[in-house]
Amino acid sequence: MSPHPVFRDDLLAGQVAIVTGGATGIGLGISSTLAQLGMHVVMASRKPEHLQRAVESITAAGGKASSVQVDVRDQERVVAMAKEVHDAHGRIDLLVNNAAGNFYAPSETLSANAWKSVIEIDLFGTFYCTQAVFPYMKAQGGGRVVSTSMTLHYRGWPLMAHATAAKAGVDALTKTLALEWADHGIRINAIAPGPIPTEGVRKAFTPPPGAPVPDLFNVDKAMASWAKGAIPLKRWGTPEDIGQMVAYLASPAGDWITGAIFVVDGGEWLAKAKPAS
Ligand code: NAP
Repeated sequence: MSPHPVFRDDLLAGQVAIVTGGATGIGLGISSTLAQLGMHVVMASRKPEHLQRAVESITAAGGKASSVQVDVRDQERVVAMAKEVHDAHGRIDLLVNNAAGNFYAPSETLSANAWKSVIEIDLFGTFYCTQAVFPYMKAQGGGRVVSTSMTLHYRGWPLMAHATAAKAGVDALTKTLALEWADHGIRINAIAPGPIPTEGVRKAFTPPPGAPVPDLFNVDKAMASWAKGAIPLKRWGTPEDIGQMVAYLASPAGDWITGAIFVVDGGEWLAKAKPAS
């Protein structure tokens, strides 16, 4: 649950959200924030141990949560998931596309499989899930979709060709679907988080066992230098920072916002974009 709640506790009461990758890291911050505001949150990902732990933690804190096992790369399963959630709750008010595959790898040796896997989770998965909830949102007269993007593709980011390409696609999808589905009252936005030291990020920086550890992979060194030197607001982001932004976009305060991508990063990317002095 967020340590800094700014919204009314029942702001989203009676509504239902699906959060992909919603049981760990940033996704869990989003799921917890939405549950705190009264939403029933369905967390959707592959690993039962992640899902079970997250459902327990949210329900123990008084929130409403359940889970559904899904690999977002499997379109048939994604379609079935949307139906299961709709059958169980009678509505789907919000989809958060947050699942992603994260690892650092030099492009010259990136395997076809690794490339395909990240593009399929981040980009295809986002499209499959968004398309799967569309009929339900259309039938109920509206809905909201928020996708977790990133800022690294604004300037290029070595060793992340796969993820930056996928997230650039997510940004494009956000704008295009926002226009295509506005007539149905469906608002589609994205959030681009700055560096948030989740377990996923720590793992992405860690080389395989036995491999040499180049400086770029030194988790603590890389993270410490970013936080101190590159974030104007001088702190890491937290999963709750992103959760609060999702809550805003899901709330009536976001009623006139669609096709937008919100950077939530303590000013990190803008500072990096400054011309060198
Ligand atoms: P994370 O903890 O590794 O989250 C990834 C989540 O995606 C996990 O819950 C994982 O759950 C799920 N997932 C992975 N593959 C999946 C698949 N095929 N099908 C369904 N679910 C799958 O990483 P995070 O740092 O919280 O990142 C969350 C999002 O924020 C990602 O979209 C990431 O690109 C974005 N982001 C993060 C940062 C950052 O600094 N942390 C910055 C910018 C953007 P299972 O293992 O249970 O499937």
